[in-house]
Amino acid sequence: MRLILVGPPGAGKGTQAVHLAEHYQIPHISTGDIFRANLQNGTPLGLKAKSYMDKGELVPDSLTNEMVKDRLAKDDAKSGFLLDGFPRNVSQAEVLNAMLAEVGVLLDAALELSLDNEEIVKRLSIRGRDDDKEEIIRRRLEVYGEQTAPIISFYRDANLLVTIAATGEISDITAAAIAALSKKLS
Ligand code: ADP
Repeated sequence: MRLILVGPPGAGKGTQAVHLAEHYQIPHISTGDIFRANLQNGTPLGLKAKSYMDKGELVPDSLTNEMVKDRLAKDDAKSGFLLDGFPRNVSQAEVLNAMLAEVGVLLDAALELSLDNEEIVKRLSIRGRDDDKEEIIRRRLEVYGEQTAPIISFYRDANLLVTIAATGEISDITAAAIAALSKKLS
């Protein structure tokens, strides 16, 4: 299974990704987690990413694409992966296609977790991560709408899009995702 997850901040991508990766026995690759780990370890990549993350902006593609390419080249990603937080704009989506084409594989699906704006703001304001301050949240939502949401049409056009509602019990959402994906792939 080669899967990407897309959805606004607060949709629960990280949570669902853990469950889906477990179900499909594939590595969960979260670009946000990798950036945060680099930040914590004070690596050059972490230092460069920090200023963007703090503002709610996307880290530049030049840094992000290389990082994902290195990660996908690892052995555990050879037979499948779940990408969480990448691609985050159409250019990254095109780069991902090119990376996969280079090794002769295709994505199986793009899973969209959909959630309305009001619910997003509510969830993020109680989460309390460093970049969850109100004005940063607002900027991340803008960035999502302007830069990330267009990849939904991109994957719809590629006939890879599977959309599920991101509300309700965590385990019900996971079950709905698995059901929708098997229907799509059957
Ligand atoms: P969210 O809860 O908003 O989905 P993530 O943990 O996925 O948060 O990402 C946190 C931050 O890391 C983003 O706001 C952005 O600055 C950076 N980031 C993560 N993935 C990418 C990416 N694919 N391209 C650029 N920046 C990214």
